[in-house]
Amino acid sequence: MSTTDFSSLQLQPALIDNLTTLGYQSMTPIQEQSLPDILKGRDVIAQGQTGSGKTAAFGLGLLEKLNVKRFRIQSLVLCPTRELADQVAKEIRRLGRGIHNIKVLTLCGGMPLGPQIGSLEHGAHIVVGTPGRIEDHLGKGTLRLNDVNLLVLDEADRMLEMGFQDALDNIISHISEARQTLMFSATFPEQIQAIARRIMQQPVTIQVESTHDNTTIEQHVFKANDNKHRMTVLQLLLQKYKPESAVVFCNTKIETQDLADQLSQLGFSAMALHGDLEQRDRDQTLVRFINKSINILVATDVAARGLDIEYLDTVINFQIAREIEVHVHRIGRTGRAGKKGIALTIITEKETFKLAKLQDFLQQTFELEALPPVSLLDKPVYQPSMMTLQIDGGKKQKLRPGDILGALTGKEGISGKQVGKIQLFPNKAYVAVNRNVAQQALKKLTQGKLKGRTFRARLL
Ligand code: AMP
Repeated sequence: MSTTDFSSLQLQPALIDNLTTLGYQSMTPIQEQSLPDILKGRDVIAQGQTGSGKTAAFGLGLLEKLNVKRFRIQSLVLCPTRELADQVAKEIRRLGRGIHNIKVLTLCGGMPLGPQIGSLEHGAHIVVGTPGRIEDHLGKGTLRLNDVNLLVLDEADRMLEMGFQDALDNIISHISEARQTLMFSATFPEQIQAIARRIMQQPVTIQVESTHDNTTIEQHVFKANDNKHRMTVLQLLLQKYKPESAVVFCNTKIETQDLADQLSQLGFSAMALHGDLEQRDRDQTLVRFINKSINILVATDVAARGLDIEYLDTVINFQIAREIEVHVHRIGRTGRAGKKGIALTIITEKETFKLAKLQDFLQQTFELEALPPVSLLDKPVYQPSMMTLQIDGGKKQKLRPGDILGALTGKEGISGKQVGKIQLFPNKAYVAVNRNVAQQALKKLTQGKLKGRTFRARLL
């Protein structure tokens, strides 16, 4: 039995057996280094980025500690964004499915309060949420944290950057000091160390080597003549690399919308993601990007936080990031899960000093590369392989993915292979279909029945 084997840990058999069924054969470095201390009940600060396996590190810790018979909130996980909270809750449920009757509740902003209050009345063992909303519930008296014995701060640096310091302090003041505290953060600025000193007791600090290296992420740097020329360079790079799923990072919110609009006008399949979007539009943008019917997401660093998109093939820096750590974080979103990723960075003369700093930091040199031939600008703009069908019915109408798949693929329908991701929301469902059969799929859906009735559907 090696030390990277989960069975070397003091975990109950139900958890170990389930890990086998999940295909988690050995621990990732962060799990190997943090889990023994977490299971001993110690406070732990770990440097963990999305993709490192950090969720399972604290997830297993809190599941092992949980007393299922005691139906009280025993663990609280705080995350900066709703997307991250949803992913964390999902992973905890997956990890805990070998133990009966575990209730995991998410409490996030952007969602109606009423149903959350209802769920809280029914009780839960584990709450995963965003600081603002948790604070709201504490204020209303709808959430009590007296029984919490394990607190997790996930992406702590992001929460601080987003201005959640006061909310965190307030929340923590409601939790017993006898608790165990775990903190995960991609970076360790002084503010994090200060908060750790305040809220943790003799924490063990764990830093793991970044899981990405220059063998999985290919970096290319290109020079634009000036700010105006950046757009042309971006167009050339998109036409050359034709990414299926790319995030283009901008430094400001206004720029993201502007750039997405310009790209759309040129015929690219691009959308913006920034903090001013309505939750519904944000959800819809992500649905379409994740199901590959939008190729390009133009985002700020803040908006892209907590996004865990499994296969991002390309990251493009429309400008080089202001800070090295941000650059490293940006490009770390590609090249996951052993796949090769590409990072393309556009700089102007004024930014060459930032490139020099980056090269120093990474101990790597980047030659400025020749731009792709301008003739690419005359070529037809590449298009995504999929299109999204939106159905005006969802979980509340009891639609299930199988119903939708069935309706699409029946007589005179399309083949199952041409159907992509199906995502269900309370009142809407989204299904990706191959672009070349999209009209046929739409017809089949609108003329046929789902659960015995017709639903309105349209192509986005
Ligand atoms: P995270 O960094 O927590 O977002 O995890 C990244 C991904 O790795 C998730 O999809 C997990 O399901 C997966 N994962 C976590 N731990 C392991 C493991 N020990 N073996 C294989 N996959 C894992």
